[in-house]
Amino acid sequence: MTDNEAMQLALEQARAAYREGEVPIGAVIVCNDRVIAEAHNEVEKQQDASAHAELLCLQRAARVLGNWRLCEATLYSTLEPCAMCAGAIILYRLKRIVWGARDVRQGAHGSWVDLTLFPHPIHRVVVQDGLLEEESRLLMQSFFRERREHAKHRTHV
Ligand SMILES: [Zn+2]
Repeated sequence: MTDNEAMQLALEQARAAYREGEVPIGAVIVCNDRVIAEAHNEVEKQQDASAHAELLCLQRAARVLGNWRLCEATLYSTLEPCAMCAGAIILYRLKRIVWGARDVRQGAHGSWVDLTLFPHPIHRVVVQDGLLEEESRLLMQSFFRERREHAKHRTHV
């Protein structure tokens, strides 16, 4: 499975989130060339600010493997991880993360803060950014544009 194919699956998850009224962010985890977990943002559904696609995906992958050490796994996320998810990625000992669009408000791989600047004493995660960036970004922009339109409409009723 190529990085591109895996990110397409993450985008599918992001589109599913969109349909459910969630901010469209999706993630998948691939281990030994197999997709072992998929998730999308569920903050609204769970009313839980920590129900991010990446974190849910890491939790599911650990359950599937019966092992919280995801040393051979790669996480694909449509969006730059936030500080919480960037921290979780280190805690789960992930091998690699590939993400799509930047997140200027929450991004912890350089857009807001840069947690990759501080080498972790025992674990290094390989980071690749900008894969299918445009698809992810357009999906986010379309979601927020639609939400603003709805908000405008409501105030006029
Ligand atoms: Zn996050």
